[in-house]
Amino acid sequence: MLEKDIERILVDHKKIVEVSKKLGNQITNDYHDKKPLIIGLLNGCLPFLAELMKHIDLYCEYEVMSVKSYHGGTKSVGNVKIVKDLDVSVEGRHVIIAEDIVDTGRTINVVKDLLTYRGAASVEVATLLDKPEGRIEAFVPKYIGVTIPKVFVVGFGLDYDDYYRNLPYVGVLKESVYKNDIS
Ligand code: 5GP
Repeated sequence: MLEKDIERILVDHKKIVEVSKKLGNQITNDYHDKKPLIIGLLNGCLPFLAELMKHIDLYCEYEVMSVKSYHGGTKSVGNVKIVKDLDVSVEGRHVIIAEDIVDTGRTINVVKDLLTYRGAASVEVATLLDKPEGRIEAFVPKYIGVTIPKVFVVGFGLDYDDYYRNLPYVGVLKESVYKNDIS
């Protein structure tokens, strides 16, 4: 059903598991003497967060918050809004933000600044996908799964109009699906 809307698969499921394992091992080594707090950014983070956590062999917790920068279309809008805040304090905590994708860098910069302002001891970012050609604000995530070109992708948490998040892979959406989109 969903596959007919996909032009091509960019990152298949096997590769996603492979890179999540690699990042999980790196985090396990880097934080071997700490108990990091992993913060997932809803809704896109969920499949990646779930996969990544399986490969982190540490005493760690995860929490979620929701920020919105895209409003149903395929282009980022300038402002980032906090839709659901954290239920816990980050003061003194070593935080790792788990993101589905870093594009313009706006979302991650806003969240990172906020958590730093709230007293986190450190804030790093683990992203499944990085789209460096889309950057408007400078940002280099510490943990990057796969670097992709400047294309609009869906699947494994990433949506178009809230659909396609349940695809087990990351793929490029056919332009015909969104060509009449005016947002
Ligand atoms: P940024 O603030 O870095 O531009 O964007 C981060 C957010 O924009 C991501 O968490 C994601 O929700 C959305 N985004 C950026 N690029 C894409 C993309 O190619 N596909 C989808 N579905 N969402 C994207």
